[in-house]
Amino acid sequence: MTRREELAAGLADVEARIVAACSAAGRVREDVVLVAVSKTWPASDVEHVHALGVRDVAENKDQEAAAKAAELTGLADLRWHFVGQVQTNKATSVASYADVVHSLDRERLARALSAGAGRAGREIDVLVQVSLDDEPGRGGVPPDGALALADLAACLPGLRLAGVMGVAPLGGDPQGAFARLRETALRLRADHPDATVISAGMSGDLEHAVREGATHLRVGTALFGPRGPMLR
Ligand SMILES: *Cc1c(COP(=O)(O)O)cnc(C)c1O
Repeated sequence: MTRREELAAGLADVEARIVAACSAAGRVREDVVLVAVSKTWPASDVEHVHALGVRDVAENKDQEAAAKAAELTGLADLRWHFVGQVQTNKATSVASYADVVHSLDRERLARALSAGAGRAGREIDVLVQVSLDDEPGRGGVPPDGALALADLAACLPGLRLAGVMGVAPLGGDPQGAFARLRETALRLRADHPDATVISAGMSGDLEHAVREGATHLRVGTALFGPRGPMLR
């Protein structure tokens, strides 16, 4: 099997799962965007999935993301999503290529991304990352803080507040976690009607996320294959 065929098979599997999950939830497939998490995989894999119809790809490290985005500027309709923690000193770089930052988790980062977007003459979508368990570690801001951060982001030039993102706790209850994320999304939308994105669900729990209203699924392993043991 060529790598293209391997990726086509992975994509077909993921698509079938999304279609089934949408159908079970009474939703339509068009309401959900598949974001292909290409971290650790080469730019050539991104070209393959683009050729197979994927238009949204995600990375979680600035250095790797910047290199791939630079290599693939020819694919003009590709949307780059950044899903990892952003160090404040990387915000300018991230703002130069990212179309969507899923991991807005503090005021300083919001201001740094806004400044970076201004410098690059760009507008970027931001999602406030909401923590879905009581233990810090998987990142994000508790719901009340998330709403305050969203209010700030909505006021900053160069940023478009697009919604929320969450990562289900390891070994926890994904359904309950995504239900809490949806609740926060609804509260946020009361004040910011255009902030409609709910980024939730990965390879292992996308069905739960679709059931709880996710609009964006971040899928790596189920599409590209397992990452090496030393790689996140
Ligand atoms: C790596 C990563 C994903 C994809 O995880 P898989 O289990 O490989 O699908 C999704 N979201 C974030 C934030 C990630 O870092």
